[in-house]
Amino acid sequence: MTPLRIASFALFLLTSALAIAQTTPSKSENVSARVRQIHNSAIVVDTHADTPQRFLDDNFDIGSTDPKDLGHVSLDKARAGNLGAEFFSIWVEPSFKGQYAHRAMDLIDSVYQQAARHPDRMMMAFSVDDIERAHKQKKLASLMGIEGGHAIENDLRLLRDFYKLGVRYMTLTWSNTNEWADSSGDISNPKIEHHNGLTDFGKQVVQEMNRLGIMVDISHVADKTFYDAVATSRAPVIASHSAARALSNHARNMTDDMLRAVTKNNGVVMVNFFSAFVDENYRKVYEAQRKDEEAAVAAFVAQRKAEGKPVSYAEYDRIQREWTAKIPRPPLKSLIDQIDHIAKIAGVDHVGLGSDFDGVSGATPEGIDSAADLPKITQGLLDRGYRADDIRKILGANLLRGFRDVERVSREMQTEQAGRQSGK
Ligand SMILES: [Zn+2]
Repeated sequence: MTPLRIASFALFLLTSALAIAQTTPSKSENVSARVRQIHNSAIVVDTHADTPQRFLDDNFDIGSTDPKDLGHVSLDKARAGNLGAEFFSIWVEPSFKGQYAHRAMDLIDSVYQQAARHPDRMMMAFSVDDIERAHKQKKLASLMGIEGGHAIENDLRLLRDFYKLGVRYMTLTWSNTNEWADSSGDISNPKIEHHNGLTDFGKQVVQEMNRLGIMVDISHVADKTFYDAVATSRAPVIASHSAARALSNHARNMTDDMLRAVTKNNGVVMVNFFSAFVDENYRKVYEAQRKDEEAAVAAFVAQRKAEGKPVSYAEYDRIQREWTAKIPRPPLKSLIDQIDHIAKIAGVDHVGLGSDFDGVSGATPEGIDSAADLPKITQGLLDRGYRADDIRKILGANLLRGFRDVERVSREMQTEQAGRQSGK
């Protein structure tokens, strides 16, 4: 069978399974009244969803009510999970070489298009005040973060333009090392030219992000880049979607020492839900089959290229789901363990949720199939003995505090700059 046929068959099996699942009530409806009450009293913030690729490449409408849609984020799912704010990822795939900023702007536009289509249920947001305003109006606050510092094409002017377009965080790297920051994704590849962390220009990027009010996001970066970033940044940093290495030994995850450095920096680590980052057993099986998966994807891409057709998000997602379906999903407990570990090492004021929804296909822990399932995390934390106040911090208040600090530092730096320029 061709990879396409295998993938279609896998999709058939998956949709059949889904049809069966729909006849039984969703478990998230079964969380206790106390859990509902705590969960719904919070402003729930998720700092990473890859849905813009669906908007742009597949014409996905966030207002979709299609019961067969396997996606993690829609307005209905967000409402069911009381999701108050989503940071949509402007992920610039390195294959867009020569058009990084163009690709980023297309993805940014796709988020605005969705907000324009659903003004009654969704609004663009650029600040903590906006998030709170959206919450009062019962709308999903939609923010944006760039994933991959190569998107600025080594130009601080483009960084400033992205701020004006609404970008409020940027991961210094994605899985690829760029010309000013090392990534964890290729740090052990000797063929890649590395910089021992951040270059001088990389440090300027961090300072300009501080001045503008763009959160410095250290997800994906190499360890040395992380330490350079916290040493350089005047504002708290975030990890928009990272887990703890002590529980899953992935280079992309954070060591306990890094978690403690985030505490000192007053930053926030937003826990990624991707099973391979969350759970060590899953990670081992995933790593063992990764080469085969990559080969299957490459074969499919080559086949489509020969046919002169681009590969859509849905097609990538379908192949990835075929592979992730081979590995038993870790229990929800593994995700709660991650939150609990980071809360213990970094402190309960320094942990939040950065799902990676719509970026990890089917590879989320059991019970987490979309944003509608977020109340189960509240249930898990309450069962673990967490106080309601601390749960609300984890669900969103910590990120809002960090974001406010970033806004304050930006105002301070701009005042200082104005003072310098007027000679005071
Ligand atoms: Zn990512």
